[in-house]
Amino acid sequence: MAHFSIVQNYINGEWSTPATETYLEVTNPATIEILSKVPLSPASEVDRAALAAHTAFQTWRRTPATERIQYLFKLKTLLEEHFEEIAQTITLESGKTLAEAKGEMRRAIENVEVACGIPIMMQGYNSEDIARGIDEHMIRQPLGVTAVITPFNFPGMIPFWFMPYAIACGNTCIIKPSERVPLTMQRIFTLLEQTGLPKGVVNLVNGAKEVVDALLDHAAIRSISFVGSTGVAKYVYSRAAANGKRAQCQGGAKNPVIVLPDADIAMTTKIMADSAFGCAGQRCLAASIAITVGDAKNTFTDAISEAATSRQVGFGLDSGVQMGPVITDQSKVRIESIIQQAETEGATVLVDGRSTRISGYETGYFVRPTILQNIDPRGETAKTEIFGPVLSLIHLDSIEAAIALVNQSQYGNMASLFTSNGAAARKFRYEAEAGNIGINIGVAAPMAFFPFSGWKDSFFGDLHGQGWQAIEFFTQTKVIVERWHDWTRQF
Ligand code: NAD
Repeated sequence: MAHFSIVQNYINGEWSTPATETYLEVTNPATIEILSKVPLSPASEVDRAALAAHTAFQTWRRTPATERIQYLFKLKTLLEEHFEEIAQTITLESGKTLAEAKGEMRRAIENVEVACGIPIMMQGYNSEDIARGIDEHMIRQPLGVTAVITPFNFPGMIPFWFMPYAIACGNTCIIKPSERVPLTMQRIFTLLEQTGLPKGVVNLVNGAKEVVDALLDHAAIRSISFVGSTGVAKYVYSRAAANGKRAQCQGGAKNPVIVLPDADIAMTTKIMADSAFGCAGQRCLAASIAITVGDAKNTFTDAISEAATSRQVGFGLDSGVQMGPVITDQSKVRIESIIQQAETEGATVLVDGRSTRISGYETGYFVRPTILQNIDPRGETAKTEIFGPVLSLIHLDSIEAAIALVNQSQYGNMASLFTSNGAAARKFRYEAEAGNIGINIGVAAPMAFFPFSGWKDSFFGDLHGQGWQAIEFFTQTKVIVERWHDWTRQF
């Protein structure tokens, strides 16, 4: 298993330690063992990376797409060979279970596979004779240097929503991982190095706000792909746009799920428990509010409370564990204070996950699954992204009232419905104001060949990550109108 004493940057094909006095500890949240130290790089590291990426771009963009994707085929092979070990690194630094970490890496690899289709996906189109003897073509060209800034909760997958498409399209790329989970990308970059990619095509700069600001301000960087909390997403989007950059910024979420009385309650409960408590609720697609309609109230409340109580919590590498810790002590304190606030607002704590101590892991940052009943739909708990294993229940009388509550949210990342009624399902998918919709699905995660389609305060920009939209984002269109006078004949 890979352990690194000090996390390094990878710039212009070389590993290096930045000149800084500021380091953060990288900690296993289940054991609080210190795994490594990560440097908070100064802005000068971004300058070095941008220069390397800009220089590499001149040759990389001239490399045929069919040749560029050969590196991605090699990367796919290397990721498969090191699959287990990378998944273990994800578990160690983020706390999620090994099965969840493997699921994350599977999704990452699928993005590499889709990006291997670039030779056809990047094609343009043309029309002959837009006027007599004049033809017009649209071609796609890469942007130049692109930057990717990612959050802590999917250290392996999220950079892959962007990087494979960026480089396959002929761009070069700088990745800044979350400073809380830098080890996974560190390991993946050793594999990128083994693919033989030319120097400067991919670069890794570790750090925090200073690095992000330098990426947003650097003149050579043409685009920013960001995933994180809504406040930071808004900030990144505004500053990138003010500097004339293309930006796609995915933000936070508060995902509602409606349970109708005709839903299969056993199936719904199993799926909902996975959605709300999987990855300890630290997923932007986690179910956060369950809105039960009519008679679903009693059946679902009892079943989900039982599922919450019986979930096996512990260290993600131990067998049988279904849920790991949350990422930091501050996170645990914040989640527990939101549960307290819900109580103050009049909610009942049906299942209380506070003050959890796991035998053998007493110091870990554990919060057990928690169920809040009758939260105030207009209160703070109903609006706040908890990002922990907490499911709030609200009971309403009709699907219309439930959809109205879904649409009142400031967020629009995901909304789901559980039902056996096709007309109700159609009404919901037609009216719900969210970009990812689940019908009898708890985590409506789009595959690599569909856009990850957040709305409202869950996304700032026009073009989302993954699939065709990634190709649109990482290329600029050029239109050529062409006339060749044929001297041998009269028009
Ligand atoms: P975060 O916003 O704290 O950090 C994200 C990135 O921004 C990190 O790389 C961090 O170093 C940087 N950053 C943090 N504060 C900054 C600042 N003030 N200025 C500049 N850069 C800053 O997010 P997080 O806690 O790592 O991740 C959890 C959040 O991400 C949740 O809100 C979750 O919903 C969201 N998320 C969204 C999606 C999505 O697809 N919409 C996916 C995963 C996570």
